[in-house]
Amino acid sequence: MEKLTGKSILKGIAIGKILFYQKDEQAVKRVKTEDTKAEIERYVNARKEAVLQLNELYKKAVKEVGEMNAAVFEVHAMMVEDGDYVDSIVNIIETQQVNAEYAVAVTGDNFSKMFAEMDDDYFKARAADVKDISERIINILSGNKNSGNNLKEPVIIVADDLAPSETVQMDKEKLLAFVTEHGSSNSHTAILARTMNIPALTGISISKEWDGKIAVLDGYTGTLYIDAGKDTIDKFKKRQDEDIKSRELLQNLKGKEDITLDGRKIKLYANIGSVKDVANVLANDAAGIGLFRSEFLYLETNDYPDEESQFTAYKTVAENMAGKKVIVRTLDIGADKQADYFNLDHEDNPAMGYRAIRICLERTDIFKTQLRALLRASAFGNISIMFPMIISVNEVKRIKEIVKSVKAELSQEGIPYGDTELGIMIETPAAVMISDLLAQEVDFFSIGTNDLTQYTLAIDRQNMKLDNIYDSHHPAVLRMIQMTVENGHKHGCWVGICGELGADTELTEDFVRMGIDELSVSPSFVLPIRKIIRNIKME
Ligand code: PEP
Ligand code: MG
Repeated sequence: MEKLTGKSILKGIAIGKILFYQKDEQAVKRVKTEDTKAEIERYVNARKEAVLQLNELYKKAVKEVGEMNAAVFEVHAMMVEDGDYVDSIVNIIETQQVNAEYAVAVTGDNFSKMFAEMDDDYFKARAADVKDISERIINILSGNKNSGNNLKEPVIIVADDLAPSETVQMDKEKLLAFVTEHGSSNSHTAILARTMNIPALTGISISKEWDGKIAVLDGYTGTLYIDAGKDTIDKFKKRQDEDIKSRELLQNLKGKEDITLDGRKIKLYANIGSVKDVANVLANDAAGIGLFRSEFLYLETNDYPDEESQFTAYKTVAENMAGKKVIVRTLDIGADKQADYFNLDHEDNPAMGYRAIRICLERTDIFKTQLRALLRASAFGNISIMFPMIISVNEVKRIKEIVKSVKAELSQEGIPYGDTELGIMIETPAAVMISDLLAQEVDFFSIGTNDLTQYTLAIDRQNMKLDNIYDSHHPAVLRMIQMTVENGHKHGCWVGICGELGADTELTEDFVRMGIDELSVSPSFVLPIRKIIRNIKME
């Protein structure tokens, strides 16, 4: 048995088989062959399998995220069988006498370049689709079972690193845990693990040899046991049972108020990244959703999600929450959250670059589509809209102008929308320092402590080497929180925390004393924090 130690992302135990996950974009080798007939047959079979997989994915996605969002898989299934695409692959196999993988890779590259160079935005976006379907066929041909959205059995994923876009597409039912060599515990991949309640470790030196071996992951100590023996497995199975029992004990807090012993009520909400996470929010009895990271909708697709698909997603969340508050944060793409079709330039310093509201205020077409979808969905529940990465009053004024124009458009079209509170994320030191001015423009503040820590301490949250000095308890960060609360309250703004620090049980009492009105945390943290709140006595 091998024992390794890394950094824990979520406390919890996982026991299961390892799946070594390789990035799809591995180089495809060109192999000469005389038997082109056999290669064509391999390709035809792989193509059939790809269509079957896509049809299955479509059915599953319809159930989970609705027809509109699922449509991408239907489009992919059609593209796989597109005449020009198929002819090009067969032609390369025959004329160059090469293996099917290579022919698919070359065709995929050629078609994707062709689409990317087109003027029309719709066709431009097809470039990512062609890449995607080609990777799928190559994976089938090479027997690579590693695409995370197609897991066959429950597994512990081991990978060099995982991008948020890869993590969000993994089949959560079959993902027991994941282990990465790289990636910081403050990255969005780590946040996703916590939102999905999946134990995870980072900073472990991984090996391809582990594929298929049985492992035990101990998220309490950050330990990974490879080829775990019966004794180790039994010991951790017991620990898993204890976890289940202590979670069961918390169940009696369901339905109880989030109120201190002396009667101060706190709004205890949950963070989500997808429509599917709502089940977890309800299961953990959160009083609302304090942060719906809407950019994950954009990371699950190969093209800009249109108004209808976004409307369906927001409406589904609002309806499922049945009148409870749902705060949707507008697109916060950029930095570690990248979608190919945005074609964002490479930047040396993306965390401080062209991202989030900066993109939305320039690409108002994308922004208005999202706002239309959100406002339309607000007629079906209690939706609030929140804007990320704010640094100036001017930005907020421009946002409000755009919201106003979208509302006017909807009214003119006779489309109803509800009463939405507008809020901003306080996640830059600039926003904290002018929070008195910003508070006069909006209904609420939500403090994004992940970025606020990064920018206040000048520590890249993605840099694993700096994990140990990325200190959200730093007095500078805590004073920023206090200042934001005071300025917000002075001007009638309620103030919450939706960054990971909001779930830090060591600080719950301090936050309540500071006057925080809301805490929004990963769903599995709701009940433990309710327990603390209900035991706080202010005097
Ligand atoms: C934050 O910065 O604290 C936050 C909640 O936003 P994100 O983690 O998505 O950047
Ligand atoms: Mg942030």
